[in-house]
Amino acid sequence: MDDRLFRNVMGKFATGVTVITTEIDGSIHGMTANAFMSVSLNPKLVLISIGEKAKMLDRIKKSKTYAVSFLTENQKEISMQFAGQIKENREAEFDWLNGMPVIKGAIASLTCNVVAEYEAGDHTLFIGEVTDVHFQEDAEPLIFFQGKYRELKSLKESVHS
Ligand code: FAD
Repeated sequence: MDDRLFRNVMGKFATGVTVITTEIDGSIHGMTANAFMSVSLNPKLVLISIGEKAKMLDRIKKSKTYAVSFLTENQKEISMQFAGQIKENREAEFDWLNGMPVIKGAIASLTCNVVAEYEAGDHTLFIGEVTDVHFQEDAEPLIFFQGKYRELKSLKESVHS
């Protein structure tokens, strides 16, 4: 199958946008990712998928921990920054959750210990056991669809007689 066709079809699946963060020897590294899912309630497990070329890969293999921050609709530039799409060096503002760096102002954040990793083609899947969570009530998520950023729109409420 043609790579472009596969990418186009996968782009039809709308997702939120996260920034994965980890810390090695006092140095924080972040990376934008939308390959995130909740896996299990008991125990509480989540999954991320990191490409073989990403610097993040070795860092998580070493730290054995990662945090995930779900971005708000106002954090598109942060997504672009952590995807390497903004060339100038910018400072990032982090908060701390359970001793780990998370993106300041994110709609929700969680911290994990890596409990399993699986190579899957040109990506590695990291299953994380969730160690802490934080969220804010009144924020709207950033959405990614067909390679573009979007906002959530409510459907018109249906009227039942
Ligand atoms: P780099 O490219 O070197 O770092 C990423 C950028 O983050 C750099 O430009 C740097 O300026 C900034 N940065 C990092 N740490 C800090 C810090 N402490 N302070 C300030 N800035 C910092 N790739 C995947 O593997 N899996 C995915 O699920 C995935 N989903 C994506 C979803 C979207 C919407 C987008 C746009 C990209 C996605 N990518 C994904 C691609 C991935 O974000 C990029 O390939 C990214 O550049 C890989 O990062 P890196 O670890 O190689 O580090």
